[in-house]
Amino acid sequence: MPLMPVAEALQRVLAAASTLPAELVTLNDALGRVLTDDVIALRTQPPAAVSAMDGYAVRASDVGNAPVTLKLIGEVAAGHPFDGEVGPGQAARIFTGGVMPAGSDAVVIQELTARDGDTVTIQKPTAKGRNVRGQGIDFAKDQVLLRKGRRLTGRDLMLAAAMNHPRLSVHRRPKVAVLGTGDELVPPGATPGPGEIVYSNGFALLAMARSEGAEVNDLGTVRDRVEMIAAAVRRARDWGADILVTSGGASVGEHDLVQRALASEGLELSFWRVALRPGRPMMHGKVGAMQVLGLPGNPVSSYVCAFLFLVPLIRRLAGRDDVERAPEPARLGCNMPANDERADYLRATLSAGPDGLVATPLPAQDSSLMAPLAEASCLLIREPNAPAAKAGSPCVILKLGL
Ligand code: AMP
Ligand code: MG
Repeated sequence: MPLMPVAEALQRVLAAASTLPAELVTLNDALGRVLTDDVIALRTQPPAAVSAMDGYAVRASDVGNAPVTLKLIGEVAAGHPFDGEVGPGQAARIFTGGVMPAGSDAVVIQELTARDGDTVTIQKPTAKGRNVRGQGIDFAKDQVLLRKGRRLTGRDLMLAAAMNHPRLSVHRRPKVAVLGTGDELVPPGATPGPGEIVYSNGFALLAMARSEGAEVNDLGTVRDRVEMIAAAVRRARDWGADILVTSGGASVGEHDLVQRALASEGLELSFWRVALRPGRPMMHGKVGAMQVLGLPGNPVSSYVCAFLFLVPLIRRLAGRDDVERAPEPARLGCNMPANDERADYLRATLSAGPDGLVATPLPAQDSSLMAPLAEASCLLIREPNAPAAKAGSPCVILKLGL
């Protein structure tokens, strides 16, 4: 099979994915999720005219010729309305959020008044409606304020609560299981024996999935045995994974058994081998309804592949419309040689230049190197067969996140 271009590989991954069904979740579980329906206000806000200040609720016509002294007939605080009616020559003490009593139509702020027992002297005229928040100035019952397809922000949750919705209907979170494969892998904190290394890449893959809003399942590692890998694939399927991400064992060496194990579980292979560096042996397919991304084991390769394919796949399943991240423009921080037939995703630092961002590849780009990956703030993209380019010429980058 020839190497598949990155864009085509991504289209294949996304074509195999449909948005997950709806579920009702509490507001505290809805951040970053996508609405499956329009949200209609169940009430009007504010439900009645209320005071915007601490002061006195009056009839504006009474205070037009201030100073004037009015008789106090009651008190209104937020949550404590007052039944009486403010008649001519009368006023009520009122606090912010208090419902305007019948008859009153303005609030005189307390700084413009002088209180004396059950009378208050208003020192300056105050116009009708002054310091009053009218009924429904925020929104009215039955108004649609949040539309289907919207990705919920914290501000949206505040608004939904005010609309009196304790729960919202959103797309279910994608379930992502992550599995490492390799006889050499031991968990962090263990004492590696001869030839062993510490399992590392899964931590970035799980973190990436979680920060994209997925529910994750850390399957840990299995040894390079078809039966053990197949058993882990079944665990992922039984858990209900929408996506299984494996790392390691993805190429064609004698110890690269992931594809064989997946085949024994009914893999429908979509592609493997992408025109990508790092990450050429990346594989995609489905086991039943479960999407499988078979990533190479080298930490940088697995990270770049997950960044390019797993993130958009999670977003698509979650109903997001910002599935593909558009590369941003920058300038090269150094001369670059011509590229070959694989797209390069170089780990690079960013600095501010006279014409915007300057991306400079880190000197060491081997796909096993985690220290430069952690140091990088973006991936600098070099298209397949890109000609040599001089420092300062335009380039495109993808910023790395959490
Ligand atoms: P593989 O894709 O299995 O051929 O592995 C390629 C390289 O990545 C080897 O040097 C492995 O030891 C290393 N490697 C594989 N899996 C992991 C992992 N989960 N964490 C860190 N390194 C790994
Ligand atoms: Mg291996």
